[in-house]
Amino acid sequence: MNIKEIETKTMLVPSKLPDAQYVVNPYTGCEFGCAYCYASFMGRFVNEPVNNWGNYVYVKTNAVSVFEKDLKRWSQARRQSSIFLSSVTDPYHGIESKYRLTRGILEILARETYPGLVSILTKSPLVLRDVDILHQIPHVEVGMTITTTDDKLGRFLEVRAPLISRRLHTLKQLHEEGLHTYAFIGPLLPHFRYRPDLLEDLFARLAEVGVQSVFIEHINLKPYIRERLLQRMQHESPEIQDVYRQASSLKHREILDRLVTNLVEKYQLRLRLNRVLYHNQNMPS
Ligand code: SF4
Repeated sequence: MNIKEIETKTMLVPSKLPDAQYVVNPYTGCEFGCAYCYASFMGRFVNEPVNNWGNYVYVKTNAVSVFEKDLKRWSQARRQSSIFLSSVTDPYHGIESKYRLTRGILEILARETYPGLVSILTKSPLVLRDVDILHQIPHVEVGMTITTTDDKLGRFLEVRAPLISRRLHTLKQLHEEGLHTYAFIGPLLPHFRYRPDLLEDLFARLAEVGVQSVFIEHINLKPYIRERLLQRMQHESPEIQDVYRQASSLKHREILDRLVTNLVEKYQLRLRLNRVLYHNQNMPS
């Protein structure tokens, strides 16, 4: 893993995500290196090729002080804005345990009694380290990305991310701590179209660990993502590769949308934004 320390000029960045007004990314790059990650395009800002995603992290060493400065400039009205950590990295990947930038940012939000929604999305149980701070932020929610209940498949696609079973356990622990939790099912893996039982298992596990709402996003197969994903799947059978290749079709999405609608109702979960997201309306992590 290539770790480089850099400085940043700004931390609170207006968001293009459908459910967040500002995003905060203390790192460029992500140790977890998921095969389907749309954020791999970030490499162009630090001169890293798309296929090197997952092998480097640029640490914004001044992230906490710059965040504090950015926030100080905000009016009371602007402080109602929702803030999302993080859109193009995981705020709790491995080196956060050393640099503690996410924690530093949360400490400022707690100290300022930030009134807007602070939403965290991660794949890592390291978030449990910060439960003490999370309790001090008035409106906070913690989400975990859960794409499957199969650890083996999770390990294959989410190369260095913590196992899904650990993420589910983390959601349970956060719920038991009294924190508001959600799940991000993204990408909605194409094979669920042919194995709805596996998708149902996922929903059942989420309900079991106390999740009340879910964001769901169809797989994003823009050329740069498709290239990385298919490269990763080159040893899989042609049938499996085909399922992924065909996942951009409207028919594919409609079939999965119907499955999701039924399961959301059956497990009494709230579908955030009332739809399954697609393509440019990305969520991260
Ligand atoms: S999907 Fe999230 S956790 Fe995976 S590499 Fe991208 S930013 Fe990191």
